[in-house]
Amino acid sequence: MTAVHVPGTPIIEDGRLVSTSPATGAEAGRLPVATEADVRDAVARARVAADWWAGLGFTGRRERLLRWRGVIARRIEELAELVHTEGGKPVADAVVEILTALEHIDWAARNAKRVLGPRRVRTRLILAEFTGHLEYQPYGVVGVIGPWNYPVFTPIGSAAYALAAGNAVVFKPSEYTPAVGQWLVDRFAEVVPEQPVLQAVHGLGDVGAALCRAGVGKLAFTGSTRTAKKVMAACAETLTPVLLEAGGKDAMIVDADADLDAAAEACVWGALTNAGQTCIGIERVYAVDQVFDAFVDKVVAKAGRLTVGPDGADIGPITMPSQLDIIRRHIEDGVAAGGRAVLGGADAVQPPYVHPTVLLDVPEDSAAVREETFGPTLTVNRVRDVDEAVERANALPYGLGGSVFGRKRAVAVARRLRSGMASVNSTLTFAGMSTLPFGGVGESGFGRIHGEDGLREFGRAKSITKRRARSMLPAMTFERTPADVARLVKAAKLMYGRGR
Ligand code: NDP
Repeated sequence: MTAVHVPGTPIIEDGRLVSTSPATGAEAGRLPVATEADVRDAVARARVAADWWAGLGFTGRRERLLRWRGVIARRIEELAELVHTEGGKPVADAVVEILTALEHIDWAARNAKRVLGPRRVRTRLILAEFTGHLEYQPYGVVGVIGPWNYPVFTPIGSAAYALAAGNAVVFKPSEYTPAVGQWLVDRFAEVVPEQPVLQAVHGLGDVGAALCRAGVGKLAFTGSTRTAKKVMAACAETLTPVLLEAGGKDAMIVDADADLDAAAEACVWGALTNAGQTCIGIERVYAVDQVFDAFVDKVVAKAGRLTVGPDGADIGPITMPSQLDIIRRHIEDGVAAGGRAVLGGADAVQPPYVHPTVLLDVPEDSAAVREETFGPTLTVNRVRDVDEAVERANALPYGLGGSVFGRKRAVAVARRLRSGMASVNSTLTFAGMSTLPFGGVGESGFGRIHGEDGLREFGRAKSITKRRARSMLPAMTFERTPADVARLVKAAKLMYGRGR
């Protein structure tokens, strides 16, 4: 029996987590809820699987991961349809998300050996009689906790890199998107049938909390800043290292020499794709005075043309019904504080949809500017110059991504943004470049997924020195003589004593 409930709100029925479409309420998935003991058992099984998986070596793992990538790619329409049903995301957006995730699996599989594998490191004059060796060894079991808004891209951003590094993964998908999580795990099991190298545990937040305490070697969390703090506190009990990819309130800066058509197009995409439910989504724009009016006109024209609704529309439903109240509050507060809605407004919130909303001149201290809205809304504020834009962009505790449009100064301005990432003359693109690390600063978290840093995040540096000759100048031994020490003093002055 399927109970009647608010479409999109997950429920637990007979020990099963039932996810539903936020647009229609149709059942999308029904998965067993894990108890604390189940989570511990999954981690124990993963420990055994991790040894086997590590034993395959980089080449064996690369082959399996590329096969996993192949299976997902060949069934991309099926997965996109499931993402659409379970989370409400338009199919076209789901395709883009999956494509990006495939690129990350591909890159992680192909580059893990080069980045993490054993290698000699250069020695220096001091200890020249030794060779240095470095490798990154897996943690064993990595726990991955994921959000619902990018249910393929975000967990894969951690899991593919953790797997390529030689770890087994126990994955707790969001309660809103368990079926997508299980689909990824089931496809992995098709290409790695021998051991449960990638497992899912389902349930509400308490299952995530249990995973933090289940003895994993590292915990990779993606979700809100509020939950990130709980995860870090739970992991602190056992000194379990954490990687935290949390929320954001990313800003876009439009300089006087920007291509305004391109800026408006990228702004509308960056702010409104996935109905604005994007951690690195553009939520605030600071446009310099000279171009402000022309830029706003273009944004409003483009955003106003977007369609809102179920199948085939540009903007789908809000996935988490409770978010609708937050979006409405931000719009109402912004307008009450003196902001002007030039598109949409408070009545743009028509559950389960929110129509594009553009607010101008919203005071910097209002919730619409300071808090993560996670809806298809945007504030655009006028600034004197890029210096003022940078100052305002950097005024929040969040620091995830950001965007700068302009010619002469754009890269320099991007470097001044207090954020982990930025895109110049585009929005969100850094997420798809597998060679670039992804992560935030401040309340947006720490640690990096993607790229070489993303691989190193899932391996512990193991350093080895190996003697290759007798020491000419004995230092690290009680058998050194006073004459040796005198020579060490002389060497110290010779090697390091020059200059000021
Ligand atoms: P939440 O923080 O609500 O949930 C994230 C995950 O944590 C879910 O699987 C959730 O389970 C689980 N969880 C909840 N409580 C606990 C707990 N006490 N201990 C351990 N795990 C717990 O985030 P959302 O799912 O709402 O995702 C949206 C947020 O994610 C936004 O803030 C967004 O900016 C951020 N995000 C960040 C990204 C980044 O890379 N920086 C990328 C994508 C999103 P359950 O769902 O069952 O409650």
